[in-house]
Amino acid sequence: MKKKREINILDVVIAGGGPAGLSAALVLGRSLKNVTVIDDGRPRNFVTAASHGFLTRDGIKPSELRKIAHEQLTKYQNVKITEDFIEKVEKKNNVFITTTKSGKTMVSKKIVFGTGMKDHLPAIDGLQEVYGKTVFHCPYCDGWERRNEPLAVFGNGKGLLPFIKLIYNWSEDLIAFTNGTADITKEEKQELIQHNIPLIESPIIEFQSTKGNLDRIILQNGDAVRRKGGFWVTTNEQQASMIPALLGVPLNENGEYETGDHGQTNIKGLSIVGDAKNSFTSLIGAAEQGYEIGVKINGELAEEKWADKLL
Ligand SMILES: Cc1cc2nc3c(=O)[nH]c(=O)nc-3n(C[C@H](O)[C@H](O)[C@H](O)COP(=O)(O)OP(=O)(O)OC[C@H]3O[C@@H](n4cnc5c(N)ncnc54)[C@H](O)[C@@H]3O)c2cc1C
Repeated sequence: MKKKREINILDVVIAGGGPAGLSAALVLGRSLKNVTVIDDGRPRNFVTAASHGFLTRDGIKPSELRKIAHEQLTKYQNVKITEDFIEKVEKKNNVFITTTKSGKTMVSKKIVFGTGMKDHLPAIDGLQEVYGKTVFHCPYCDGWERRNEPLAVFGNGKGLLPFIKLIYNWSEDLIAFTNGTADITKEEKQELIQHNIPLIESPIIEFQSTKGNLDRIILQNGDAVRRKGGFWVTTNEQQASMIPALLGVPLNENGEYETGDHGQTNIKGLSIVGDAKNSFTSLIGAAEQGYEIGVKINGELAEEKWADKLL
């Protein structure tokens, strides 16, 4: 008689090994769960040399934060971290079947997506060189380092003025660049004048810099404007993984996955945490969400184990 092949069912597969995914892995590992983290090593913050605002880790290099997390997780032999890319996830008979680019297949009771977002900045010469060095999106992450400097604020539409008010907290020497005709009201233009903030509408054709330090912004009208740094209102972020959407998880108008309080979704057993859920969570926020979902999932697995013995 042909022997039936034993399938190893993992407790949890974690898609994405950023702070959200690794934090979930730590809680679940400490809860004796068999966990595999699958990560292809392309987080959105790798362009930056230092991360700020994570208590005890202020100023740390993103790769160093990851290295410490990996080192600490090696203690938990029930947690495996695999460098790979998840191509497909199916849900069949109450389990999740995950297939990776290298051809591996994993079966799990639960799956957590901490796959994050990807930024899509406009294709302007020299922008990639300065983004993450002196030009950023998040003032809580990088505003202090740029305090009181001559800064640019890039953006347009109704989000521009609220963002300028925020950046004004770190520097009052601001110039607003709408990179095309300004789509703001007369009253908003008046407020900018009252705060001595020039508004430049000419399209940007180049960012000139030395070793990532912004020097001049070159405009289509021929002007060159000196600025030492800047902040973008939006980086047009989009989901790094559309797999949850393909499984039926809805996206909201900001392109974030819609979830319940802890990250549970309308697909039972599938949770989403970190930037994929809140578009710009921060490192500590993503880690906190990973912790919460880890606790939630362990609670569910404990209930399920208990109920199995009652049958
Ligand atoms: C320029 C910049 C600077 C920042 N600075 C700071 C800062 O100073 N302080 C701060 O708190 N926050 C900062 N942030 C924000 C912070 O990086 C994010 O909020 C945080 O990384 C979100 O964590 P996450 O785990 O949700 O996603 P991520 O850290 O983006 O991790 C997601 C992981 O999932 C992997 N992945 C995606 N799809 C797949 C797939 N299909 N298969 C396998 N793996 C996959 C990716 O490769 C990645 O490793 C910054 C962001 C940027 C862009």
